[in-house]
Amino acid sequence: ASVVNQIAAGEVVERPASVVKEMMENAIDAGARRLEVSVERGGKDLIRIADDGEGIAAEEMLLAFQPHATSKLQTAEDLHRVRTLGFRGEALAAIAEISKVRCQTRRADAPEGSEIQIEAGIAGPIKSCGCPVGTVMEVRNLFFNTPVRRTFLKSDSTEAGHVAETFARIALAHPQVHMTFRSAGKIVHDLPAVAGVRERIATFFGRELAESLLWVEGKLEQVALWGYVGHPSQSRSSTKGQYLFLGGRYVRDRSLSHALNEAYRGLLMVGRNPVAFLNLEIPPEEVDVNVHPTKIEVRFRDPQRIYSHLLSTLRQTFLSSDL
Ligand code: ADP
Ligand code: MG
Repeated sequence: ASVVNQIAAGEVVERPASVVKEMMENAIDAGARRLEVSVERGGKDLIRIADDGEGIAAEEMLLAFQPHATSKLQTAEDLHRVRTLGFRGEALAAIAEISKVRCQTRRADAPEGSEIQIEAGIAGPIKSCGCPVGTVMEVRNLFFNTPVRRTFLKSDSTEAGHVAETFARIALAHPQVHMTFRSAGKIVHDLPAVAGVRERIATFFGRELAESLLWVEGKLEQVALWGYVGHPSQSRSSTKGQYLFLGGRYVRDRSLSHALNEAYRGLLMVGRNPVAFLNLEIPPEEVDVNVHPTKIEVRFRDPQRIYSHLLSTLRQTFLSSDL
């Protein structure tokens, strides 16, 4: 494994939660209806993601772990209208560079599954194996070959907390997928597939909060905003409990969090920030999701317009509710 490859891998993989994010997104892109995530020692020792998606064909397996191999983008223009969660073809290669990966997978038309193991970027032979349709990815000993980076990881419980937050973001964006999360052998979440995000919010944050949420909806030309906002159960100074999704992908945007807190603060007590589950749908050419490999930050072509749209829609919502 070359140093260049290891550095590139560090861009994508910061901690176990980064692996969980990439692999959960791959499962969703593969059309999974069921997705199981488990970690040992906060993901430092083991991350296991099992899905019932379309699987990987035996002859595509090596390719899937090659850098910049993606089955999802056909042309350069596609970069501007990305529909799948993944599109760079970087994640699997990066993860395999700095860990020990085992992948077992089977497509519906294949008589048996296939398995590959990759350690520090070196792939072993592809073998056949018995497995159900779908994919199981196991990532062991993250950063075992970059020991300095491994020392930057936090305690098992802190890393497990990051994984849980990543799991929550993806689970809230995809309520129609049955998802489970296990940490250190214990079931943390078992979320059945539900029709809407409100039911999923209930399983995460309690029925009481879910039922008290206000529906938000507003459209300004091509920019659509919808979702739920609600009162926090306690003072929150941070943006905790605030989820913003752009085309089904969790994003973080300071200015949008600011608009949210502003709209709420204008009407209510200081020092409290609302909980929020908001979706933004905007034409792909109005936003650049390509800013960073981990894709949490995005860049809007006209951030001011999005900001004021969000602020005025939320103000109206808070005003018209009988608070
Ligand atoms: P990207 O998601 O950007 O295409 P990745 O490195 O995450 O790149 O994955 C590389 C390829 O491996 C994907 O394009 C896909 O074809 C395949 N793949 C990865 N994970 C899965 C999965 N869980 N189910 C089916 N195919 C997968
Ligand atoms: Mg991917």
